[in-house]
Amino acid sequence: SKLVYTFGGDASHGDDPRAKDKNLLGGKGANLAEMASIGLPVPPGFTITTEECVRYLKEGSDFSADLRADIAKALTHIERTVGKNFGDESDPLLVSVRSGARVSMPGMMDTVLNLGLNDKTVEGLAKVAGDDRFAWDSYRRFIQMYSDVVLGLDHGLFEEALEIAKEDNGFFADTEMTADDWRALVKEFKAIVEREQGEPFPQDVHAQLWGAIAAVFDSWDSDRAKVYRRLNDIPGDWGTAVNVQAMVFGNMGDTSATGVAFTRDPATGEKAYYGEFLVNAQGEDVVAGIRTPQYLTLRAREAAGADKPSMEEAMPDAYGELAKVFELLEAHYADMQDIEFTVERGKLWMLQTRSGKRTAAAALKLAVDMVEEGLIDEKTAILRVDPMALDQLLHPTLDPDAARDVLTTGLPASPGAASGIIVLDADTAEHKAERGESVILCRVETSPEDIHGMHAAKGILTARGGMTSHAAVVARGMGRCCVSGASAVSINLKDRTLRIGDRELKEGDTITLDGGTGQVMAGKVATIEPKMAGDFATLMEWADRIRRMKVRTNAETPEDCVTARKFGAEGIGLCRTEHMFFDASRISAVREMILAEDEGGRRKALAKLLPEQRKDFTEIFEAMAPLPCTIRLLDPPLHEFLPTGDQEFAELAEITGFGVDHLRRRAEELHEFNPMLGHRGCRLGITYPEIYEMQARAIFEAACDVAEKSGNAPVPEVMIPLVGTKRELAILRKLVNDIAAEVFAERGRELEYLVGTMIELPRAALMAGEIAEEARFFSFGTNDLTQTTLGVSRDDAGRFLSTYVEKGIYGRDPFVSLDVEGVGQLVSLAVERGRATRLDIKLGICGEHGGDPASILFCEKTGLDYVSASPYRVPIARLAAAQASL
Ligand code: ADP
Ligand code: MG
Ligand code: MG
Repeated sequence: SKLVYTFGGDASHGDDPRAKDKNLLGGKGANLAEMASIGLPVPPGFTITTEECVRYLKEGSDFSADLRADIAKALTHIERTVGKNFGDESDPLLVSVRSGARVSMPGMMDTVLNLGLNDKTVEGLAKVAGDDRFAWDSYRRFIQMYSDVVLGLDHGLFEEALEIAKEDNGFFADTEMTADDWRALVKEFKAIVEREQGEPFPQDVHAQLWGAIAAVFDSWDSDRAKVYRRLNDIPGDWGTAVNVQAMVFGNMGDTSATGVAFTRDPATGEKAYYGEFLVNAQGEDVVAGIRTPQYLTLRAREAAGADKPSMEEAMPDAYGELAKVFELLEAHYADMQDIEFTVERGKLWMLQTRSGKRTAAAALKLAVDMVEEGLIDEKTAILRVDPMALDQLLHPTLDPDAARDVLTTGLPASPGAASGIIVLDADTAEHKAERGESVILCRVETSPEDIHGMHAAKGILTARGGMTSHAAVVARGMGRCCVSGASAVSINLKDRTLRIGDRELKEGDTITLDGGTGQVMAGKVATIEPKMAGDFATLMEWADRIRRMKVRTNAETPEDCVTARKFGAEGIGLCRTEHMFFDASRISAVREMILAEDEGGRRKALAKLLPEQRKDFTEIFEAMAPLPCTIRLLDPPLHEFLPTGDQEFAELAEITGFGVDHLRRRAEELHEFNPMLGHRGCRLGITYPEIYEMQARAIFEAACDVAEKSGNAPVPEVMIPLVGTKRELAILRKLVNDIAAEVFAERGRELEYLVGTMIELPRAALMAGEIAEEARFFSFGTNDLTQTTLGVSRDDAGRFLSTYVEKGIYGRDPFVSLDVEGVGQLVSLAVERGRATRLDIKLGICGEHGGDPASILFCEKTGLDYVSASPYRVPIARLAAAQASL
């Protein structure tokens, strides 16, 4: 199979399906080929496959003879198409060497521009272009980039030399440098290289090319790429493709430019071209935030009140071409595109296109609008929105009526709002966030080295950089709010202070960012609850029409119930009852019960709890009726409720009349070494039936009360936890049924209810056929099932889990995303055996996994009836369930 694919010019690969394969050619390579094939102006080039990268990395960084031969041929393709030869001293072909993985990893891997320049070819380039300044500018850029990416020299050395050169000349901007200034700087750059690596800068253009190809391959395994992959669940064995492409030059004077654009607004989804460009500049200048870029459209420039002309005004012809390309690309890909372009002496060239990263709000608007425009159908729209991204819209936003102490306004680079403490570097941000603090990462500008800190932060503020700067792009991708280019902000890393105008703030002070307006505010600003309306509601309706599984919620307070219903929950999948016992007014009765010497003592304490517990259920049923509510009887080891401090023991002594010493002795007796596998779950109900009797009574009395009062009867589903044998369930089911009969007799009404169990022990899964004889429903408690199947304690896994994920032992944290291979087998088995016994057994999942899209896909495939997720995850689960059924 081919190692190299050409594009542009007369390149053609017949009907070789590999020639269109993004996995093989990377997103960048595949799209360059596709753009060229639909007739867009793309500089010719070739792509080395990701397979070759994987092979190269695995087999010890050596190029095969086949690869060498194929690249020689492919290089000829470029030379023929452009009409210039690589290394030709009178008219040299220059190329870029660009990384490009399956999915975009902005700024994570390396690219080298202007490759093919040396002391001889630079003179040829100057002559042919009739522009000395341009040629020497390109050469110094090349040395700088090559030294950084390929030779591994500190780019700071070169930047410093450039700064000094500008200072010496009294220049402010790079554009003021003349041909001679660049020529002098090149000399200095070469001296730096020779000093630092003990060898001169490579003059052989082929050696340059191989060096760059190797560097791009190697960048797949750079530390920052690894971090990015871990954060984004990208497998380490994909590899990156390498694209070698003829250079086009945006730095050939005032009729040349380079830019980045989106076919629609990636922050809001609005149908308006969006982007930035820089005159007389090359590629990375826009993203790196070296100069403040100009707007693409007149409208955007006017809206921002900027004085430098937009591209629409400054280069109307090239802009017109670009607008045509936008329309073509949107129609072709039927999606919003993120584009890189360069104008060389008035002529437009396309250098990249991909589906643009977008905020959740934009994703919803784009999906709904494009259905209306007839570009895509509803199913595609549903698949377009990342369920997890909805999380951004489900959190509180700034209260428009709250007072705002606005310090400055920057660019609204990524929407959402966040309050947190000022932190000035990525490591500190990560460190503070780990300790539970909300942090706002404040930087002059961000770079790929800041990724971990950006991830840890609630919001990002930069002093420099535009709407397509690194900070903006990454923040939008991560769903962090971001204000970029707030030029009034100056950061002093030595004193750890941040000055905005005449206000000086310290690291640790609280600020608030509004990524929708670009405002930076002092202190914390009040927030309001989100609403699901407009495009969000529309898309959810479509999702609801398509999905098969129901979506319930894990809720244990009436507030949670109200929130979850607002978000579309169709019942409660898990109502834990233990938290109700922790309430300050009740805990002493609970402790009294636990520490009681005998059943009589326990019943006395339980009698105090009954009305309280009945009230809990009444409120929950009122919020949820007539939807089903699965209520789990008491589950945690009793020892979790034990008093600890002297004060707590003293209070308890007063209430119970027992001495403190006596109580302490009882508490010691109850101590367990491994409480998670100890006296908990249904074992409590077996040993102290009066506890479950009280709870069952509270449930049925509450259900009767609500039915009486509102005529709207809830459907309680009483769930017995931690069952491992049929006998346990048989005993407890009888207990619940007896209490139900008693209450119904007292009340003179019968209500529908179910008794079922959690499947959270491997034995329960294995014995599901038998257990189903006693159970009307199974709810997979995948948190415990994961703990007990893997033999890993969720509470203690933190110490080794990240190492396990890093080393690829676990694909993802098994407590976040279900271990489908292992734990999943037990679930499937239990489903099969449970259904074999009882065809209409209700099946659901109530672990944390019920809100995780990958796990939801598994639930769909396994044929569960519903998933249950925490209230704020309900919309995520609704969308994920719809996607899973497509
Ligand atoms: P990244 O993935 O970091 O964006 P790219 O490979 O896209 O890296 O390249 C970095 C910059 O260089 C981009 O702005 C791109 O448009 C520009 N560039 C890449 N190849 C060429 C080329 N052949 N001619 C001109 N500019 C190029
Ligand atoms: Mg790059
Ligand atoms: Mg790019």
